[in-house]
Amino acid sequence: MTFDLNNLLRDNIKKLVPYSSARDEFKGEANTFLDANENSFGSPLTKWYNRYPDPLQLKVKEKLSSIKAVPVENIFLGNGSDECIDVLMRAFCEPGKDNILICPPTYGMYEVSAHINDVNIKKVSLTPAFQLNLPAIEEAIDDNTKIIFLCSPNNPTGNSLDRDDIEIILNNYSGIVVIDEAYINFSRFRSFTQELNDYPNLVILQTLSKAWGLAALRVGMAFASQEIIHVMNKIKPPYNINQASQELTLQALEEVGQVNDMIREIVAQRDLLAKDLLTIPVVQKIYPSDANFLLVQVTAPKALYKYLLEKGIVVRDRSSVELCAGCLRITVGTPSENVSVVNAIKNWDRES
Ligand SMILES: *Cc1c(COP(=O)(O)O)cnc(C)c1O
Repeated sequence: MTFDLNNLLRDNIKKLVPYSSARDEFKGEANTFLDANENSFGSPLTKWYNRYPDPLQLKVKEKLSSIKAVPVENIFLGNGSDECIDVLMRAFCEPGKDNILICPPTYGMYEVSAHINDVNIKKVSLTPAFQLNLPAIEEAIDDNTKIIFLCSPNNPTGNSLDRDDIEIILNNYSGIVVIDEAYINFSRFRSFTQELNDYPNLVILQTLSKAWGLAALRVGMAFASQEIIHVMNKIKPPYNINQASQELTLQALEEVGQVNDMIREIVAQRDLLAKDLLTIPVVQKIYPSDANFLLVQVTAPKALYKYLLEKGIVVRDRSSVELCAGCLRITVGTPSENVSVVNAIKNWDRES
């Protein structure tokens, strides 16, 4: 395969002259900033909220760079990874002409983002073991297939995709391969971030919304070649990560140890929850999980879902999703939340 970024990019993006903000045009130190029509008097909040934030979030990226062992130049930050998905779609996929390939059952945003951008979708289902169907993927790809989205660990199935299969795609496909690692911190397997130099077509997505516990801040990351990151920066809204998010993110990134403790506890709770659920007769199967949730097959998913709602417990009904018949997706909670959900399902089992 030969990878050529210029062949993949849309023409309008190749020619795009990006918006040049005041903070792009002047980055140095000064004591009087009269270039951005900000309110020089201040704000009702802390003083510095009157100023536009750093468009390229350098401080946050420097901190992430040391945590992830990825150079700053290979990092893009999005308003959630959902923004990264959308930016990639707009960079590479010509509306009404190009297509992406996804492997259902998987994260719903790839499909929604494609629809919003009028990009066609090729679907190649995972195998019954929730692994990639390589021959079918090869068969489905055509000249207009610009991006393959792989989610590992996968949502909603919870398992990791076989590394060898992912590498076969990376080595043989000349379009963009996105590996969505939203749940990588809960996985037994290592991230692809240290493989960036080997694969010019690789984009890795991670997020602060899951293991880091910062879903409300909306910070997602893309790791890729400098060339791809450059294109993504051209397309994104200039100030896509607001000042409050940048500050709070920086503060949180100091606490790697605390986050690692939470991850260990969530993984331990996940395994305990699986064990407890398996003792209940209505629970037919629990799929192996490398994430912070379990895909649980039960005898009557919709009835159980409603019963749990009546008890004030919300889980995700995935029973209408292909290959997930009978399944609920249950996020691992605190020890007491896990006890409540287990007890509620036990009660339902006795009553039904
Ligand atoms: C939760 C999730 C995300 C996170 O999206 P954010 O926009 O960063 O909150 C991305 N991908 C997958 C597969 C997810 O499950």
